[in-house]
Amino acid sequence: MLSKFERYPLTFGPTPIEKLSRLSAHLGGHVEIFAKREDCNSGLAFGGNKLRKLEYIVPDAIASNADTLVSIGGVQSNHTRMVAATAAKIGMKCRLIQESWVPHEDAVYDRVGNILLSRVMGAEVQLVDEGFDIGIRESWEKALADVKAKGGKPYAIPAGASVHKFGGLGYVGFAEEVRAQEVELGFKFDYVIVCTVTGSTHAGMVVGFAKDGRQRNVIGIDASFTPTQTRAQVLDIAQKTSALVGGKDITNEDIVLNEDYAYPVYGVPSQETIEAIRLSARLEGMMTDPVYEGKSMQGMIDLVKKGFFPAGSKVLYAHLGGVPAINGYSYTFRNG
Ligand code: PLP
Repeated sequence: MLSKFERYPLTFGPTPIEKLSRLSAHLGGHVEIFAKREDCNSGLAFGGNKLRKLEYIVPDAIASNADTLVSIGGVQSNHTRMVAATAAKIGMKCRLIQESWVPHEDAVYDRVGNILLSRVMGAEVQLVDEGFDIGIRESWEKALADVKAKGGKPYAIPAGASVHKFGGLGYVGFAEEVRAQEVELGFKFDYVIVCTVTGSTHAGMVVGFAKDGRQRNVIGIDASFTPTQTRAQVLDIAQKTSALVGGKDITNEDIVLNEDYAYPVYGVPSQETIEAIRLSARLEGMMTDPVYEGKSMQGMIDLVKKGFFPAGSKVLYAHLGGVPAINGYSYTFRNG
């Protein structure tokens, strides 16, 4: 589906699929849980899901003769870290808007984790006092204008690399990769669990898995706490991406988004999220973060406990990265 699109390699190649045997057994052994390790996909600044998306965006940035990648996210955005790493790798400058999307307790929240890494990689980081919103932001448009005013050539990458014409392609590729791995493994996954916020990861998977009619087995776990906007954005990106790759028609029913685990708000873990992070860390040595994968881990664990997946199901947890943000939550984990 993707052969006609140019791809700039930023990742190591197909990501490993690992069985989470101890977690599966702990949850009763009726369901087999596997993780696809998108968090280990690259040597670029700890990797993560944004690199699959950026692989299809970078050729357009290079072709536009830009000299500066301009993007936006929260203070502990993984996405902006990945844009900073990509800019360094391809020899461009990087301008990042970091908004105050998350109420936080840690005194060093805006100095450690993702933002620390972006600064070390040479990005120009600007903190802006605006709340959470996955849409197009004024602060980002101002930064683009400012780069131009100073004689630079900006290339615009929206939050999460999602609302971009090529933003959904990377995770179409994920579905194709899973299909190839299923042939090697000799079985198919019954469900895929994905954390959903700005939407193009989930949207790309929906388009990719629609090829063999499995799009409704992609279970999005909302971590935005603004699920109406997130769902609409997933549907819009999926429809546009499908048109771009010549895929199947995507309808609202194809977007499965579970809203039950995003509480109390974006970026703040509930007690249940914290327990899910500890459980997968203690059983599997697999780290998840309090903003994204901790919530999708919580959702998957709860759905297994509730019997949502029929006995014998094989569930693939897409681990999309994001662990550096945990450094901004030392207070939450001060007792382990
Ligand atoms: N997991 C991690 C670690 C992320 O950084 C993001 C980014 O927002 C997501 C999940 C959600 O992906 P998306 O924004 O494409 O919905």
